[in-house]
Amino acid sequence: MTPPMIARFWGVRGSIASPGLSTARYGGNTSCVSIHIADAGILVLDAGTGIRGLGKTLAGGNEKVFILLSHAHWDHVQGFPFFTPLYEAGRKITMFPTRLSTGSPCGRCLALREQGSPPSICPLLDQMDGERFPVRVEDVPSQPKCITQDEMCFLRDQGFEVARIPANHPGGAFGYKVRHNGGSLVYLTDNELEPPYPKVTRFEEFAAFARHADVLIHDAQYVERDMPHKHGWGHSLVHQACNLAQAAEVKHLILYHHDPDRTDGELDSIQENARQWFEARGCRLRCTVAFEGLSLEIA
Ligand SMILES: [Zn+2]
Ligand SMILES: [Zn+2]
Repeated sequence: MTPPMIARFWGVRGSIASPGLSTARYGGNTSCVSIHIADAGILVLDAGTGIRGLGKTLAGGNEKVFILLSHAHWDHVQGFPFFTPLYEAGRKITMFPTRLSTGSPCGRCLALREQGSPPSICPLLDQMDGERFPVRVEDVPSQPKCITQDEMCFLRDQGFEVARIPANHPGGAFGYKVRHNGGSLVYLTDNELEPPYPKVTRFEEFAAFARHADVLIHDAQYVERDMPHKHGWGHSLVHQACNLAQAAEVKHLILYHHDPDRTDGELDSIQENARQWFEARGCRLRCTVAFEGLSLEIA
């Protein structure tokens, strides 16, 4: 029997880390989800402060690590310099740019930089410049690689079946679908389903992308009282994420990328209300508010 794909949540918060008594149960670390597929390795979705906890569990191991970013906003890259495997010689760490392929050759980010590649092509490594972080990328023993061409093909060759879709977000972002052994997980964070600006991707296209997924992880940063002030900031309302999950007929919706001001008590209420919302519509899908430590097995 093929082993399942295992998803683990290391950071579930959006915008900025929010440690403190009022966020202790769901967690205050920013975006990071790991996907473990035996034989292939670990696919890390976003490198917010949550990646630090993941790194500690990987220390001393030899699994290959692939880091895929939704985009380069701080809450998705800031944890990377604190990722323990980075400081282990011989460790295989591969990452990808946050923009579409530019035709640049594959190779180390440093080499790419010397060849005059566009800035911010590898935002994880770029922040390790000796000024914003004391250790420079040139000096880390793992020698991480940034793949800039045919990224999805590269991942497929490594054992990860991944598709991508552009999200509606200021500055741009991507969502991903990971398939394994007949199961699928869709990761769509930092996505505004009904923005006031022109959509890159329409609701129906997101629904088709996530159709019948086992797990849909979706941005649910806002609630009605945040509007209209935060309309256009690049995030969805809880009920919009619920609408998408219902339209796509997914099995399990995970509400994700919580507002830094959202307390544990408020998140409890959001979960309760969302479950009632589905129940009232006769919709039997599961709904969970993401929390640090959440782990899911997908066949
Ligand atoms: Zn974010
Ligand atoms: Zn963002």
